[in-house]
Amino acid sequence: MTAYLVGAGPGDPGLLTARALELIARADVILHDRLIPLEALTHARPDAEVVDVGKVGGGEQVPQRETTRLLVEHARAGRTVVRLKGGDPFVFGRGGEEAQALRAAGCDFEVVPGVTAGVAAPAYAGIPVTQRAIASAVAFVTGHEDPGKPETAIDWAGLAVFPGTLVFYMGVRQLPRIAEQLVAHGRDPGEPAAIVERGTLPDQRVRRTTLAGLGDQDAHAPAVTLVGPVAALHDELAWFADGPLAGVSVAVTRARVQSSGLAARLRALGARVVEAPTIRIEPLAFDLPDLRDYDLLVLTSPNAVEALMRRAHDARALSGPKIAVIGPGTADALRARGIVADIVPARAVGESLAQELAGLGTRRALVARAEQARDVVPDALRAAGAEVDVVALYRTVAEPLAERDRVAALGADWLTFASASAVRFFHAAAGTLDGPRLASIGPVTSAALRELGREPDLEAVDHTPDGLVAALATAAGRG
Ligand code: SAH
Repeated sequence: MTAYLVGAGPGDPGLLTARALELIARADVILHDRLIPLEALTHARPDAEVVDVGKVGGGEQVPQRETTRLLVEHARAGRTVVRLKGGDPFVFGRGGEEAQALRAAGCDFEVVPGVTAGVAAPAYAGIPVTQRAIASAVAFVTGHEDPGKPETAIDWAGLAVFPGTLVFYMGVRQLPRIAEQLVAHGRDPGEPAAIVERGTLPDQRVRRTTLAGLGDQDAHAPAVTLVGPVAALHDELAWFADGPLAGVSVAVTRARVQSSGLAARLRALGARVVEAPTIRIEPLAFDLPDLRDYDLLVLTSPNAVEALMRRAHDARALSGPKIAVIGPGTADALRARGIVADIVPARAVGESLAQELAGLGTRRALVARAEQARDVVPDALRAAGAEVDVVALYRTVAEPLAERDRVAALGADWLTFASASAVRFFHAAAGTLDGPRLASIGPVTSAALRELGREPDLEAVDHTPDGLVAALATAAGRG
């Protein structure tokens, strides 16, 4: 029974250590903080129990006592439990307290250090926390406490004369009082300072100021604040470029199982993503016909691939017919299962696929798809003389939209739709599409918007999730 206290780094998934990834992939249980790279969890086993113990906003934050109790309980039960923390587990992470609780309970543990925000965020801002001749020491300080309180545990007089860089974690709201205390105890008000918000993330923001100017900044957490001559090196050494969607908020309305890929791509370009799924994929019971009876199999979504393969068990069941897919996403889903699609239309819409299939001389086709799909493809195949069977593998059903997600989605800069059903379900759940600009993946989705009296502000040229992301990035560039 071993518990692992693992640092997940400051946000950029590239800063997860090899050991952290190895343990995440092995864990039975993962207890994670809010400030960890979401991508880290994609490495978890599908059957792992993943608990967000740092939930804020809608959910309540799990109290530290409860987190420690869970950790000990799972370790005692013999599970491989990973306690995944932002940055380094022993730097303002309460990892030390959790280690003490594990030791007291007689549980073995291992500590996996992580890249701490106080070093990494400055590094991504072009600020070395030490530099020969100008900073030979660095102090990590919590900014959490109100410096005005008489019982403050922080030695402000000591910090004011500390011969090196001060790095404050937390407490951006205390910055006016922190600056005041340092100056009151003799630190130079003109000393360079910098605040690095969301360091290492694609929407990192750096505010360069002076110690006296710290109080005037309207900074937002998570941020680290640096005081010392090294802060000025940002002006010379800044290297990390903003993503094209930095500062842009984008709501994703896809079903939860599908939204993560789109959300990850948007985040990688700096977008602030609001996930507001109003549809859910519900698998249907279906009889899988013998595919050897067909010379063409048509798959019109990654969900169809998923459902069909789950049912077929063995990829060789698909070895008979030619396989046509609606677009690159479906082709990718097949390729992930070792099958290369024979036909991928130039444009990812039913009409384009229908056109390509019309000339094939198909004898018998099976179209595997969603229950509510359009009939463009089966109609075109029939018109070309084929006998066509349609099998519905899944349906999309409404997923309730929490009020806070509704507010967040309607407050976003962009509302994205990757299917006509997402338009209809979102509109039904939210009651309106007013507020954000509307981005559509393609003509069918745009038509669904027009049916509701709305013209999309943007339609992707390439009708795929990547195409939608690219179109948003281009639109953001135009301002
Ligand atoms: N154990 C963490 C710190 C946890 S305390 C570590 O070693 O980094 C949380 C504080 O860390 C935040 O309030 C903020 O000051 C800092 N922080 C975490 N992630 C950050 C990021 N991406 N950019 C800037 N500061 C960050």
